[in-house]
Amino acid sequence: MEPAEKLLEFIEKCPTAFHAIAQIRARLLAEGYEELAEGRAWKIAPGGSYFTVRNESSLIAFRLPQAEASGFMIAASHSDSPAFKIKEDPEMVMAGAYTCLNVEKYGGMLMNPWFDRPLSVAGRLIIRDGSSFSTKPVNADRDLLMIPSLAIHMNRCANEGVKLNPQKDLIPVLGDETAKGSFLDLIAREAGVDKDQIAGSDLFLYSRSKGCIWGAGREYISSGRLDDLQCTFADLEGFIASGREEGSSASIPLLAVFDNEEVGSGTKQGADSTFLSDVLVRIGQALGLSSEGIREKIASSFMVSADNAHAVHPNAADKADPVNRPLMNKGIVIKFNANQKYTTDALSQALFKEILRRADVPWQNFTNRSDMAGGSTLGNISAAHVSVNTVDIGLPQLAMHSPYETAGVRDTEYLIRAMEVFFRSQLEEKAPGVYILRS
Ligand code: ZN
Repeated sequence: MEPAEKLLEFIEKCPTAFHAIAQIRARLLAEGYEELAEGRAWKIAPGGSYFTVRNESSLIAFRLPQAEASGFMIAASHSDSPAFKIKEDPEMVMAGAYTCLNVEKYGGMLMNPWFDRPLSVAGRLIIRDGSSFSTKPVNADRDLLMIPSLAIHMNRCANEGVKLNPQKDLIPVLGDETAKGSFLDLIAREAGVDKDQIAGSDLFLYSRSKGCIWGAGREYISSGRLDDLQCTFADLEGFIASGREEGSSASIPLLAVFDNEEVGSGTKQGADSTFLSDVLVRIGQALGLSSEGIREKIASSFMVSADNAHAVHPNAADKADPVNRPLMNKGIVIKFNANQKYTTDALSQALFKEILRRADVPWQNFTNRSDMAGGSTLGNISAAHVSVNTVDIGLPQLAMHSPYETAGVRDTEYLIRAMEVFFRSQLEEKAPGVYILRS
């Protein structure tokens, strides 16, 4: 199966961040990685492969070399995507005839493409059993809701730019008036639990539109959540592949997948938390390093912050920079920003381009137009907690933050290959400002 097809299969199983982490956990366990609980002492040893999960929606995996470790080779991506979150006590009867769900926006989404397509509900439940509370992912996994457009006859301006109000225009229909009172029963049934056991929930709408590969030469891939599950999937595949071969690398490859990037990362499991630094410190302690020893390793570390990038749009080519104009299927995008919203600098781009050259993978540069503000991502937020040389990259895509996005069919494979070489590489700060990159 092609990497692009495997990616679609992965995304279909990951309607929310909770499902993405459940998939990655299952994959790592199958590959022989051992799960560590943050609330227990870590017994880890050279040669071992491990991962830990926070909030069931963020994950960090790493492998320890047999030899004395040099530094960390870190890849970060995010597990969440913009969606509508279902509010508490969500059922509302509208127009006396429809049972609807009260929802609010999670992240900066394009709202228009959510109209007129089958939607479903997924997320996680907190299951109470006596005094025990546990998380259970749930996915209704059927065509369940719809947000109908208003007919052109009732809004003649519909094609001239309409301001959408999420509390008024984007309320999904669950059923007719007889559906009132059925939502929680339905979710409990899907999860195989008693309704009274549900002590809390984080539930989201997701689009049921299946991913596809399309175009005259089957050159494009479309699906929900390509941002950022395309990078997450490629990082994971590269990470696992890099561990299969006994290498001489002395670095510690580390895969980080953070939740809540779309809402600013400021949660206990986001990139703006202590999750990464907590893990690095615990690895250092388990290896018997002093706090100075840990800092030495961090100085010889490198991070790739992988979050999708904007390709030039066919109908809005003027929105792209005049020179740095990424195209789909033309390789990995390296992101630059003078104000360091992207962490890439002269050194980190030089090191990463060398890795791409060794992996025989093409690359392209991205900058925003100088008169347009871009989005933010993980790199600079994470660097505030763990300050390492970092490069911001992504795969080029269209329609970012739509529930159906488009990317290049070849780019997933490029990133898998690049990350395999990256995780096998080793960086050493030989003297102040002088780095050696080995692979
Ligand atoms: Zn993203």
